[in-house]
Amino acid sequence: MNFVDEVDIHIKAGDGGRGIVSFLRERSRPMGGPDGGDGGKGGDVIFQTTTSYNTLFHLRYKRKFLAQDGKPGRGKHSHGKNGEDIIIYVPCGTIIKDKETDIIIADLVDKDTKFIIAKGGIGGKGNAHFLTSTRQTPRFAQTGREGEEKFLKLELKILADIGLVGLPNAGKSTFLSKVTAAKPKIADYPFTTLVPNLGVVSLSDDRTMVIADIPGLIEGAHTGIGMGHEFLRHIERTRALLFIIDPIQNDTFEQFSLLKKELLLYNLSLSKKDIFVAINKTDILDKKEVGENLKKFHDMGQKVYAISAIKGEGLTNLLEDIYKSLQNFHTNE
Ligand code: GDP
Ligand code: MG
Repeated sequence: MNFVDEVDIHIKAGDGGRGIVSFLRERSRPMGGPDGGDGGKGGDVIFQTTTSYNTLFHLRYKRKFLAQDGKPGRGKHSHGKNGEDIIIYVPCGTIIKDKETDIIIADLVDKDTKFIIAKGGIGGKGNAHFLTSTRQTPRFAQTGREGEEKFLKLELKILADIGLVGLPNAGKSTFLSKVTAAKPKIADYPFTTLVPNLGVVSLSDDRTMVIADIPGLIEGAHTGIGMGHEFLRHIERTRALLFIIDPIQNDTFEQFSLLKKELLLYNLSLSKKDIFVAINKTDILDKKEVGENLKKFHDMGQKVYAISAIKGEGLTNLLEDIYKSLQNFHTNE
């Protein structure tokens, strides 16, 4: 099972500016030569990979990208200004296809890679170029070339940033539904409905992260039932794990140790992951109980948060901290 994010966009590079017809006019040389300058080059459309994005979410509302046209030339052999390039930022792993033919144009794997997808048209030549011994007054110039235009399909295999781990009934589904439905916009996002176990958290328009619920892990995944293995493959790649702990079921710290042991059974290395613990269901604990539970984790040097998934309490603080930790991963990559 792959989670593929897809978006169609329309791009066009800038047209070249036209060359112009102009003649030098000075009092001393009333019949001066042609001096019409060339038009500027149209801007290119460029893709650039960045680790700041992990989905194509930011392209859902802006679908058309036009680079600037080149400016026309001017007199005195003056070259028109080149049009500005336009840069479209995409996450690493974005595949760019021709929308009509489905042929892959580019597969952008590495970070900070630039790829010119559409070249701007070159500027037209001004009449100064067309002076010959037999043609002293060329009264024509070239128009600029058109910039390339393309209809594209972008595809991205989504990898979760955060894996949710917890016993059955700890509140993972509740948590996921709360944090990914927090913004109404997200409801339009295809895989929040298609794949209920994967959600996009949007802290603000530009700050998103992907969470995968891993339902099969404790619930029979090691026997190969259901989606367990697919999800395991998925969380092997996540940078952070969020343990949702249910204080109602048994001792919270024991529960945490048990879950970690389960992960190790699948040879999941936890050493490279940032681990967050959320004590859930604090709405039905009293303050003292919450305090005691937090202390157990604090004393072991483990980041811990008190939340109530169902009431939406403590979630923003937790998500902001996870987001910060993911950014650190990106900058240290
Ligand atoms: P999952 O098996 O980990 O996905 O757990 P669910 O999200 O399905 O939740 C299991 C049960 O716990 C459901 O009855 C939820 O309503 C309840 N639950 C989840 N979060 C909370 C919470 O913050 N407080 C309380 N009181 N109940 C919760
Ligand atoms: Mg569930």
